[in-house]
Amino acid sequence: MPLTKDAVSSLKKICKDRCFTDPESLILYGYDATRISRQPDAVVFPLSTQETADVLKLANKLAIPVVPRGAGTGLSGGAVPVKGGIVVSTEKMNRILSINKPDLTAEVEPGVITGTLKKMLESQGLFYPPDPASSEFSSIGGNIAENAGGLKAIKYGSTSNYVLGMEVVVPAGEVLWLGRYTHKGVVGYNLKDLFIGSEGTLGIITKAVLKLIPKPQSRSTLFATYPDVGASASIVTDILGTGILPSAIEFMDQASMHAVSSYLGSDVFGSKAGSALLIEVDGEQEATKSAIERIASVCKERALSIETAHGPDAEALWTARRALSPALAKIKPFKLNEDIVVPLSKLPGLVSGVELICAPLNLQYANFGHAGDGNIHVNILYDMKDEGEYKRALIAVDQVFDLVIKLHGTLSGEHGVGITKLSYITKELSPASHKLMQDIKRLIDPNNIMNPGKAI
Ligand SMILES: Cc1cc2nc3c(=O)[nH]c(=O)nc-3n(C[C@H](O)[C@H](O)[C@H](O)COP(=O)(O)OP(=O)(O)OC[C@H]3O[C@@H](n4cnc5c(N)ncnc54)[C@H](O)[C@@H]3O)c2cc1C
Repeated sequence: MPLTKDAVSSLKKICKDRCFTDPESLILYGYDATRISRQPDAVVFPLSTQETADVLKLANKLAIPVVPRGAGTGLSGGAVPVKGGIVVSTEKMNRILSINKPDLTAEVEPGVITGTLKKMLESQGLFYPPDPASSEFSSIGGNIAENAGGLKAIKYGSTSNYVLGMEVVVPAGEVLWLGRYTHKGVVGYNLKDLFIGSEGTLGIITKAVLKLIPKPQSRSTLFATYPDVGASASIVTDILGTGILPSAIEFMDQASMHAVSSYLGSDVFGSKAGSALLIEVDGEQEATKSAIERIASVCKERALSIETAHGPDAEALWTARRALSPALAKIKPFKLNEDIVVPLSKLPGLVSGVELICAPLNLQYANFGHAGDGNIHVNILYDMKDEGEYKRALIAVDQVFDLVIKLHGTLSGEHGVGITKLSYITKELSPASHKLMQDIKRLIDPNNIMNPGKAI
């Protein structure tokens, strides 16, 4: 049901000239990076916790859906207003409130762009490790709501490992302070972590205290190709067995390498390569050099080629990896990009299983991702104009998820459930744990106004 005139005028009283109902705004704030689009009834841009709380109180009283929105880069449709209602954009709550070097903390509003914060901290010798590939344009609030991961999760963990405390407004309009300012603390239930990764279904994050660490001085990189996936997977186990923990271990299968070679117009991998690894270590300059040499000696076994680079030259070896997304887009305009996770030992089984699923369905695919933590992006390529191909891609995804569960994996390591994975979660969640999650949601949000139809 569209918002009444009274509801819109109340929203305008709260957010003044930062409340929009014109068709352009409703289109612009109705989609995310999935390209799924639904129109809300209003978009508001609060400037403070108080304004956010007043919007939620109003919505709760009138039972209007509320969809929190950061930068709209989500890959599971979390910010898409599937049931209409009010999109609450945190875009204008984008202040870095403090950087506390002695305490190794930063206090920020949710709309701060992650890359902006990272750069500011690095200029002061500090490091905020979470690094989703979208960090140049995604927000801290969105990263917390999705518990975003990234390339460096193998060494540094995901966003949840760096949120010490946060302020959250719940549907009744109450403002909660969860967690703390300190790096340790165990008083009470860990409600902070219940809200991290809750995809905007429990409340709106209005402030966060983040944990920082000293910035690593330097990095060294190694790029190696192997005849098959099994060789790459066993080498990763061997590398971790040396006692060195790389800051990134990226993996590409043959389909990914073919896509990149055709995109770059040269065979950067060699014709015999069936898989590739990109490994990075960070730390003090001399230490990273000797660590990468030690890793190279392990990687030599069964490798078809190996290259290493240090310091500022290390970036050059990332060229092929960074070309992957545009390379796949050149093959087919759309992809179902599933961010599944499997135990590392199951990586060969996953890759051969995806081939067995896609070949009979006549689908192109590519597997690549964070081999160090088993988080692999299974990309099933399709063209939306070809309805049959899209339907076959959906069948493939369903079968890939069955395979992942069989391999003791999980359906999402980074992107969340949102709307795109909602119909699959009972493959993974036990009925009792799913019901408990729904009971918790009802307790915090009895009128089901917070991002309804998502996540659980
Ligand atoms: C090119 C590209 C690369 C990507 N790479 C990665 C990657 O490496 N790792 C990764 O994890 N993800 C990645 N993503 C996905 C996406 O960037 C992340 O999920 C990111 O955390 C979303 O942030 P956002 O600010 O855009 O949030 P949005 O898309 O706006 O929202 C995402 C979810 O968070 C909720 N939300 C947003 N702000 C708040 C708030 N203040 N309070 C409560 N809920 C809120 C929304 O309701 C929604 O459910 C990538 C996306 C793209 C397009």
